Amino acid sequence: MNKLTIDDIDLTGKRALVRVDFNVPIEGGKVTDDTRLVASIPTIQKLVQSGARVILMSHLGRPKGGPDPKYSLRPVAERLSKLMGLPVKFANDCIGPTAQEAAGNLKNGELLLLENLRFHPQEEKNDLGFAKELASLGEIYINDAFGTAHRAHASTEGVTRFIQPAVAGYLMKKELDYLGMALEDPVRPFVAILGGAKISGKIDVISNLLDKVDTLLIGGGMAFTFFKARGYNIGKSLLEEDKISEASNIMMLAESRKSELILPIDVVVTPDLNDPNSSTEIVSAAGIKGEMIGVDIGPRTIDAFLEHINSAGTVIWNGPMGVFENPRFAQGTFAIAQGLVSATDRGCITIVGGGDSAAAVAKAGLAEKISHVSTGGGASLEFLEGKTLPGVAALNNKGGNR
Ligand code: AMP
Repeated sequence: MNKLTIDDIDLTGKRALVRVDFNVPIEGGKVTDDTRLVASIPTIQKLVQSGARVILMSHLGRPKGGPDPKYSLRPVAERLSKLMGLPVKFANDCIGPTAQEAAGNLKNGELLLLENLRFHPQEEKNDLGFAKELASLGEIYINDAFGTAHRAHASTEGVTRFIQPAVAGYLMKKELDYLGMALEDPVRPFVAILGGAKISGKIDVISNLLDKVDTLLIGGGMAFTFFKARGYNIGKSLLEEDKISEASNIMMLAESRKSELILPIDVVVTPDLNDPNSSTEIVSAAGIKGEMIGVDIGPRTIDAFLEHINSAGTVIWNGPMGVFENPRFAQGTFAIAQGLVSATDRGCITIVGGGDSAAAVAKAGLAEKISHVSTGGGASLEFLEGKTLPGVAALNNKGGNR
């Protein structure tokens, strides 16, 4: 990664304005999943140990244009304090006199969390007046929020016009190192597995990856639009009618490239997705009858996909192989998760893009056994599309400016 990090700048005594991703689920005033808080601790710890005065800022949920207690970050300050074993002060606003006073009163090694950035609509509009007010709270800027780096918001992009140096935290660095290595210099064979509901959100990822991977495995709901493009009956399986020709183009493109595009050879079908007692059947991809619905990859496909994973040097996975929220249709997804764990054990670099595949890996208790599980679903997809993320572009380059 060619960006400066917190290891490259002077931190002692500095008011460090840190963009973190504390967008965590909260129920009844309590944080119910602290994965994102835990992921940001190495950076916060480094800042505290270096005697910086740490000002943390984040968004939470989608409040509608003003303060709303439902989206307050206060419960996050409490949980972070427990995780860090240190007091975490809290400011009721992220700009203005309250924030200024709280930031100004910080002593070396102390922590402050600002209230939800999105209580001000200017945050998402990348309003430069608002960005300047945020910037005035700190002396150095650190972005550790990979999950929002694909958005040019005031706290991720605008702010860097008013505060320098602007550098990456450890989590941001880790995300960029893993994803960047996969795209630029993967250990081969490089295998990508894509699944999830729709092709539409992932067409650009498929096109970009086709140039880089040795093998692209496709599962999940998106496979059925490819099947349709091949002329198979897909019953009532998920179909994006307007993407059939694009699916054909992708298959043709794959043939003209050195990479292999592999679709499921068998699938699990059911007559009714919502009936818990509905029957299931395993059929070949070309053998879906009547109005059956494809809900998971079948056992022969699992074996074929695992064979590729087992001989890979780098694997990147985004999107479940089936309707994994229902345990009856989750076998394909969990088999792939387990396959990644075995691959990691034998030295393969394994990366799970955020979102539902990260949720599946966490649900199976396997997150620790994968080389890297991304904290950013949308951001990792945009990165894999080959796009420059504005929140990353805004940080200082090594040996020069942006
Ligand atoms: P995405 O956000 O595009 O990664 O899609 C994730 C969603 O895809 C999950 O909620 C899965 O239930 C859904 N999904 C995966 N496979 C299928 C399928 N065969 N039919 C319908 N939905 C699916």
